[in-house]
Amino acid sequence: MNNEYQQMLNNARRGKYILGAFNVFNHISAKAVVKAAEELDSPVIIEMSTSVVKKLGIRNAISLLNTVKEEAKIPIIIHLDHCVDLDIALECIDNGWSSIMFDGSGLSLEENIKRTKQIVAHAKKYNVHVEGEVGDIKGTEDDIHSDVSLLANFEDTMHFIEQTGVNTIAPAIGTAHGQYNGIPHINYELIERLANESSCPVVIHGGTGLSKEAYERFIKCGAAKLNISTAIKQAYIDAIIQFSKKEKVVYEPLKADEEILNAIKEVVKEHIMLFNQLKK
Ligand SMILES: [Zn+2]
Repeated sequence: MNNEYQQMLNNARRGKYILGAFNVFNHISAKAVVKAAEELDSPVIIEMSTSVVKKLGIRNAISLLNTVKEEAKIPIIIHLDHCVDLDIALECIDNGWSSIMFDGSGLSLEENIKRTKQIVAHAKKYNVHVEGEVGDIKGTEDDIHSDVSLLANFEDTMHFIEQTGVNTIAPAIGTAHGQYNGIPHINYELIERLANESSCPVVIHGGTGLSKEAYERFIKCGAAKLNISTAIKQAYIDAIIQFSKKEKVVYEPLKADEEILNAIKEVVKEHIMLFNQLKK
């Protein structure tokens, strides 16, 4: 188990705030997340989805993230998000990731437990933290698409935690990846019960587009980590659109990069403030 990460999660639960985990896909986005956290003097989790890691190559991805981490003035956790492939999960563990999520949501509970257990056993040797998923979180994440949200229940989630020995748990509570159409029905009671009756920190996926009240309620219920992906992608593409709309086209790639970085940085800062992290 990654002690630094465990400490960060425990601090969040004790200090009544949520740790923001932001999805990045290249050097600019990773740098922007770290800069935002530095400006607010807050620890942060940088996540990369498995499809991005596959495109960049595991070695390239980890070297990019490690470089950003080494230059950072605040604690950084590097996390692999939504990995369904056992081989990739094992390879990432071998290549320096601090934490990985094994997504067995497409499997039966028993098969999910079996595979997650294998990952946990391997990860332990390298002090790598493992996040598991129970139920099926709605929306599109990577190439994984789910139309129906198969919500987790307390008994299955506790059984999964006990059987697998995961370090964090992401139960499907009614949040979704991507954009919300309307207000989601969220099972706050499940978060609260898990936070009270298990020592395994609870992770919320699909954090983009929820209300301030929803974030406050997650904190009150005792959730420890909240994932933000869509908002980062939107900030990135919107900044490109804005840059290309300038009266006179500017053929300076580094100027465009700077504007993209600043746009993402502002979005991340906004979320870190909403997550109450500054009161730590
Ligand atoms: Zn997710």
